[in-house]
Amino acid sequence: MTANLSVVQVAVPSPLTRRFDYLLPADLAIPVPGTRVRVPFGRREVIGVVLGHAATSDLPPEKLKPIRRVLDSEPLLPATLVELLGWASSYYHHPIGEVMQAALPVLLRRGTAPTMSGAKLYLPTEAGRQSSPEAFKRSPVQQRLVELLQRHPQGMAAAMLGAAVKNWRAPMQRLISQGLVQVQEGSCLPVRTVRQQAAPTLLPAQVTAVTAIQAAIGQFQCLLLHGITGSGKTEVYLQAIEAVVARGRQALVLVPEIGLTPQLVARFESRFQVPIAVMHSGLNESERLCAWEAGRRGEAAIVIGTRSAVFAPLPRLALILIDEEHDASFKQQDGFRYHARDVAIKRARLEDLPVVLGSATPALESMHNAELGRYRLLTLANRTGNAQPPRVQMLDLKRLKLNDGLSAPLIEALQDRLARREQSLLFLNRRGFAPVLMCHDCGWLAPCKRCDARLTIHQRSQTVRCHHCGAEAPLPKVCPSCQSANLHGIGEGTERIETSLARLLPNARIDRVDRDSTRRKGSLEAIFQRVHDGVVDILVGTQMLTKGHDFPNLTLVGVLNADQGLYSADFRSEERLVQQLVQVTGRAGRADKPGTVLIQTYHPDNPVFAAIAHHDYREFARYALAERESAGYPPYAYLALLRAESPKPDAALDFLNMAHTIAGNPNGVELMDPVPSPMERRAGRYRAQLLVQAGERRALHAFLETWRAMLENDKRARQVRWSLDVDPVDLY
Ligand code: ADP
Ligand code: ZN
Ligand code: ZN
Repeated sequence: MTANLSVVQVAVPSPLTRRFDYLLPADLAIPVPGTRVRVPFGRREVIGVVLGHAATSDLPPEKLKPIRRVLDSEPLLPATLVELLGWASSYYHHPIGEVMQAALPVLLRRGTAPTMSGAKLYLPTEAGRQSSPEAFKRSPVQQRLVELLQRHPQGMAAAMLGAAVKNWRAPMQRLISQGLVQVQEGSCLPVRTVRQQAAPTLLPAQVTAVTAIQAAIGQFQCLLLHGITGSGKTEVYLQAIEAVVARGRQALVLVPEIGLTPQLVARFESRFQVPIAVMHSGLNESERLCAWEAGRRGEAAIVIGTRSAVFAPLPRLALILIDEEHDASFKQQDGFRYHARDVAIKRARLEDLPVVLGSATPALESMHNAELGRYRLLTLANRTGNAQPPRVQMLDLKRLKLNDGLSAPLIEALQDRLARREQSLLFLNRRGFAPVLMCHDCGWLAPCKRCDARLTIHQRSQTVRCHHCGAEAPLPKVCPSCQSANLHGIGEGTERIETSLARLLPNARIDRVDRDSTRRKGSLEAIFQRVHDGVVDILVGTQMLTKGHDFPNLTLVGVLNADQGLYSADFRSEERLVQQLVQVTGRAGRADKPGTVLIQTYHPDNPVFAAIAHHDYREFARYALAERESAGYPPYAYLALLRAESPKPDAALDFLNMAHTIAGNPNGVELMDPVPSPMERRAGRYRAQLLVQAGERRALHAFLETWRAMLENDKRARQVRWSLDVDPVDLY
């Protein structure tokens, strides 16, 4: 122990859990927590964040190194955020240095001064405003950009462009070199030129919700806004924010990755006269820093962002909204595995503000918390306007024959919509042509060399691809095992359904939405625009099309292989299936035309489908929560998952067995036996996992803390790659 020193505690980017002590040179003032400092670390110098200071250190003074430089004259992270990050580090048992890093834009991690310059605003030139988008037919992305900029003549920030169009930067450069677009440096806040729209008069249930949210401003409260699709949840967000903005305060809106669309941003822009900052993964580093700074300086009154925006410093924050709160993209799946919803709730508690969780299909955990009275439940039970919920009907595959994945009643319904010039949507959660390539002579199934998985056939590109590791090879012409050419695809993916539709309904105009088609065509938005423009009759796709879009002329939704989610080993698969089905069902009959949903299944009597047919998510939640309770799963138990992987076959399992042994018999915590992961080998690595279960959160965390420290200090832990996942969302 040493006394009477100025010791500064610093979070240093390092996989070690502890904070590091440094000496404060006599000529430096004590830096406030949240300030960046440059410090020696091993043989390098690194940038860390000050956590606090003390008069003593556990280390002798001669072992302490001095801080080299203080980088900021004021803290970049306010005290409550430093506290929040400290909490997140201990809750997720993740090193504080890495947690701090996750909260800072990359440029700040590297030592750049906080600035809003470097971001760019793109404006159409006179020539750009005059040119016809038709002239860009050969380059759909350029065409889309010209259209967008003509609608935003005062310019668009990269954040907006990135949310609207994939891979837009190179085509934009071409437009600039053609003199059609000019660049203005130095801002990332969209210019406020969108025509303002008046707010509609709220329906009674919306009034109740907005009033409850506004009444909670200034204190901590968690509100669960459970409203069916199209019931006006977004309108509730907008009007709740209005009160916040009117008082000169800030609002944070968290949305799923797929939910951050230009339509959503435009809807906000058309309502508010204040700058809105947008944060998502498509930004480059200076744009990200700009948006972050706009929030930190209070220049942006509203911040709309994906997961990591939950850590944005907002000095006048008064309200947090989480749209589609059940969405899995709020959970970070590698590195620092936090859940943005749960962090947001903690943040609201620390900063005394309300947090609103909105969804048509809240997570079962959230439904449970509402039932217990921890969250205030606000319900929007009806769609706005005249729209009625669609009629849902099961097509029993035990009695119906499939023609390339499609049953006769479904084909008839599609024909019927075509004749009426209405649109249809077919949902199938599997991209590619067929999930398996099989030799019909010897039974060979095309395997991935690096994973325990089959290769998916992609007919368009004439390839086979692994959907787990990304491996790709040309489509084999002959069987490598018996040289036969009798190779065929088994099962259906979106590509195959698209092909069969073209054969069965030759007059239909079909578009496909999945990760492959949106890569090729440049943009999901462009496809959705075509649906809006009425030049598409049938849309086939994966869960990418389950969210967010209103297609007034879409009256039929077909679900092709709903049963997949019923067989999975993951205890959340049923919940996910219902959430997807409710979302996709919500696409049918949004306006004055009634909608129909046809679900192909071998299990029409499964309670999951009954809940869908009755439009009663609460009915499903009650039934599913009862199952969770009897099985001892969350929210009735608390879980953590220790994962390990190694290129050596048994190393991961050996490590987990060691971890199991050193854990001993902890109080109130049960350790399952280590097992190989459901897909043991992925991308050439063998993976295994160990599930930890506890009836009480406190017991779990007490155990994890000592256990992690033991693992961190064990030499054997360095031979594998391992991670601890608290409240895991995926159990594999
Ligand atoms: P959700 O977010 O629940 O899907 P939205 O807020 O997008 O619902 O509302 C669905 C549609 O109804 C939108 O077109 C919206 O403009 C409209 N809408 C919402 N609230 C009202 C209202 N009170 N009066 C009229 N139209 C409304
Ligand atoms: Zn063969
Ligand atoms: Zn693979």
